Amino acid sequence: MPKKRLILISLFIILTIVYGCSKEERDSNKLGIVVSIVPLQEFTEKIGGDKVTVNVMVPPGASPHSYEPTPNQLVNVSKAKMYVKVGTPVEFELVWLDKIISTNVNMVVVDASKNVKLHRMNDKHDHEKEHDQEKNSDDHKNKGYDPHIWLSPKNAIIMVENIHKALISLDPKNKEYYTSNKEAYIKELNKLDSEIKKALSSKKVKTFMVFHPAWGYFARSYNLEQMPIEEGGKNPTARGIQNLINQAKEYNAKVIFASPQFSTKSAEVIAKEIKGHMVLIDPLKKDYINNLRKVSQAFSEL
Ligand SMILES: [Zn+2]
Repeated sequence: MPKKRLILISLFIILTIVYGCSKEERDSNKLGIVVSIVPLQEFTEKIGGDKVTVNVMVPPGASPHSYEPTPNQLVNVSKAKMYVKVGTPVEFELVWLDKIISTNVNMVVVDASKNVKLHRMNDKHDHEKEHDQEKNSDDHKNKGYDPHIWLSPKNAIIMVENIHKALISLDPKNKEYYTSNKEAYIKELNKLDSEIKKALSSKKVKTFMVFHPAWGYFARSYNLEQMPIEEGGKNPTARGIQNLINQAKEYNAKVIFASPQFSTKSAEVIAKEIKGHMVLIDPLKKDYINNLRKVSQAFSEL
């Protein structure tokens, strides 16, 4: 029956058109953006909504301190209109960013860390030093600085502002849309900040022990202090572990925090020794707000 056959052929052609093209082709009317880490993807999507397609370089579960991009990811970069970098001395960017940018010189590169005050790793609350810090943004590449700026909601707000500013200059016709999305998200971030402040202000134990020291900016925002287990990115020695056990006993720690991107072995050893337990907290989760809510709850239960 020729008519039936004709219908089948037309159907086949339509299906080929609809499903045959790649995700990128279907999204071709959207702005292609690439970002370094998952929290930046969240921030960019919150502002960009359905006008953007965001690809992340360091995938969920991988560590930005060691990840290497795949050739496929570099192809994504070559099609992007914008790249959002953390802008701090995080190894992924120190090692790969120049190469990534060189694959697409026309892409707008946004420094999410612009206007964020960086602190040195293991810096105590030395306010004198903070004011001395150079304004030069190249200084943000200095290896002595703690790269994990996104884990303080106040910093997240500055990062969101930076991304928003770049988006509206790249795509001015959707300015109103981006701005109203941004305002709504900043409202949520401010709410999160007050919630955490409230939850943690009455806490008696101010020091917490964590395997990978990603929580320096978080700790600083809420008057806490992190005690890292890891030593310069490596597992501690047996002697180091013994010292940490002694310290943990000294201030009566009962919870040891670890992150899913790293081995939890030494955290488990210490937790067992002090008859406490280990809790996983993730510095790179997609749902930023709920993740920090969960983390603050874990800290408030110390
Ligand atoms: Zn880290």
